[in-house]
Amino acid sequence: MSDTPAMVTRDPLRATPNFSGPAEEVAPGVFMHSVFVNTYAMKTPEGLLLIDPGTMRGAASAHQAIRGWTGEPVHTIVYTHGHIDHAFGGKPFLAEGTVRNIVAQENCVGRFQRYSLTHGYNQIINRRQFGSDLIRFPNEFDWPTLTFRDGLSQRIGDLEIRYRAAKGETDDHCYVWIPEKSYLFTGDLIIWRSPNCGNPQKVQRYPVEWAEALEEMAALDAEWLFPGHGLVVHGRAEVRRVLTETARYLRHIIDQVVPLLNAGKSPEEIVAAVDSDPELAARPYLLELYDHPKFIVRNLIRRWAGWWNGVAADLFPASSARQAQEIAALAGGAPALIARGRALLDQGDLEMACHVAEWAIRVAPDDVAALELKRDVYEKCCAATGNLMAQGIYRGAMNEALDALGQERAQRGGRQSL
Ligand SMILES: [Zn+2]
Repeated sequence: MSDTPAMVTRDPLRATPNFSGPAEEVAPGVFMHSVFVNTYAMKTPEGLLLIDPGTMRGAASAHQAIRGWTGEPVHTIVYTHGHIDHAFGGKPFLAEGTVRNIVAQENCVGRFQRYSLTHGYNQIINRRQFGSDLIRFPNEFDWPTLTFRDGLSQRIGDLEIRYRAAKGETDDHCYVWIPEKSYLFTGDLIIWRSPNCGNPQKVQRYPVEWAEALEEMAALDAEWLFPGHGLVVHGRAEVRRVLTETARYLRHIIDQVVPLLNAGKSPEEIVAAVDSDPELAARPYLLELYDHPKFIVRNLIRRWAGWWNGVAADLFPASSARQAQEIAALAGGAPALIARGRALLDQGDLEMACHVAEWAIRVAPDDVAALELKRDVYEKCCAATGNLMAQGIYRGAMNEALDALGQERAQRGGRQSL
């Protein structure tokens, strides 16, 4: 084991987040394969504990790397949760015939059933979020064979493994705690980005339970934190800081939303009023480059309230096309809307330019100038934000216009390096 593995930090306040690195032993007896997602193999007295076998596409690479490290049989596989980047790379290890159990929190089973039921939808939203038409959403599962509701303690030889259920990014999370070694495997409760608990295209996330799980993990006083993505953190004070500050980041948002909701404020007012703590959002492990605090606010409202947005007209709304026709009639027709959209775009008022472009496209869906406005507005929106989830949706809208114009679709990192 080298002195300072590339993917380990003892100084998370000054670390540079990194999501891929050399496959190597990162802590005594713990090997990490890191290509976007982290897969860990940990030595136990009776074989390996494999934590998050990773993606379907990365399976061969993770298997080869781990087998280059040790030939010890895999005893147990654990899914920290059932997301496609964590629970779909197990095949090469299962084929070796030594795996006794796949351990997961019980909601993982329901997740896989939902993935089957909504396969088409999930493929579409993941392509849009990550900006690639090549993404294939899996429809085959290596099902958990040993599930638990709250927690599970397992002995492999004389080594105790504790699995503890949590909710956060998903309802099927768990973290893994090895008391004897002071090793804490957090899954995506730590991802070296602000917590992914607002995602606009995906099912309910759990900010409150996420904060609770982080506080519970901080109380373990672990020496090592092995996250689902990003750098391993070494050092008790540093581990505690990452966990407690991530919890505080969430609590800061939650504690603003609750009183506003209880005061009867509308979703629009709440979303406008609440922001994240700027000092915490600047931490290398909490950068808002994936999820967005405003999305977390919306997710909290969804958790506690109904779907009505507070505007009575939107209870049984006229279609967006009819609304646009009314606005166009008032404005003097589609050309006036298009001209106004261009002017707003030139002024840099992207927020309003989006609305006007949407009205224009609904009134004149085949009009080249309207399509070009839509394309250009969303290209600018995409370029103006560093937030991946927002970029994905803007790029998707831009692609609708590009398709209609017969032009090449944008992919992430494609057209003008979006
Ligand atoms: Zn993940």
